[in-house]
Amino acid sequence: MSLIKCTDVNLSYDGLRVAENLTFEINSGDYYSIIGRNGSGKSTLLKALLKLKQPDSGNIEYCDGFCQSDIGYLAQQTSVQKDFPASVSEVVISGCLKSNGFKPFFSKNDKRLAEEKMTLLGIDNIKDKCFRELSGGQQQRVLLARAMCAAKKMLFLDEPVTGLDPVVTTEFFNIINKMHDDGITIVIVSHDIHCAVKYSNRILHMDNEIAFDGTAREYVNSKVGRDFIGGHRHD
Ligand code: ADP
Repeated sequence: MSLIKCTDVNLSYDGLRVAENLTFEINSGDYYSIIGRNGSGKSTLLKALLKLKQPDSGNIEYCDGFCQSDIGYLAQQTSVQKDFPASVSEVVISGCLKSNGFKPFFSKNDKRLAEEKMTLLGIDNIKDKCFRELSGGQQQRVLLARAMCAAKKMLFLDEPVTGLDPVVTTEFFNIINKMHDDGITIVIVSHDIHCAVKYSNRILHMDNEIAFDGTAREYVNSKVGRDFIGGHRHD
């Protein structure tokens, strides 16, 4: 079942085109990796899929009752986020805001959900700590827990493991893979091509247009895939 349909989408900043002719679909249950060199339009595409950025032309359609509040979003870390003056539990539960509309309080259910995600990510023991005092890996777990609270059907991750050490990276992917096993559709922008090929069922290779869209197996056997991976096969 298709949840998002992207048809002939063109994206620009200040009249400068950064992605064009984007046509593809995200289906329920997909584990979709969006890859490509820096500046190829991956983050911009994610923002457009989230309806945070308006296309110049073309159409992004949510299907079968799917809506923006079904999506949890872990954005690329910025220095502003790193300095966020709130406790771990406050940051995590703020992921429930979308389901509350504009109500400035959280329900028992929201609190339960936040506790559950903090336990799952092993950050319940630091829940009263200030976010800005944490290590990069801990901060990323907190932001993932926040996005998980919001992700009812789909999780968007924009370079979630950049800057994390290999052990934390593996733990991170284990958690994301578990969410996928539990039925959440995953859309991830990642520079980790090996994890993309290993875990995804679909790969979208961006190069300011779609250079490749297909299964991970097809990708490793394609010219664009082989060139990007470095000329070596990964099957
Ligand atoms: P990627 O995620 O693949 O690295 P981006 O989507 O971030 O690529 O960027 C695509 C292009 O759009 C780049 O040339 C980048 O400089 C430009 N760009 C990104 N964000 C903005 C912005 N807010 N204003 C102007 N140009 C931008």
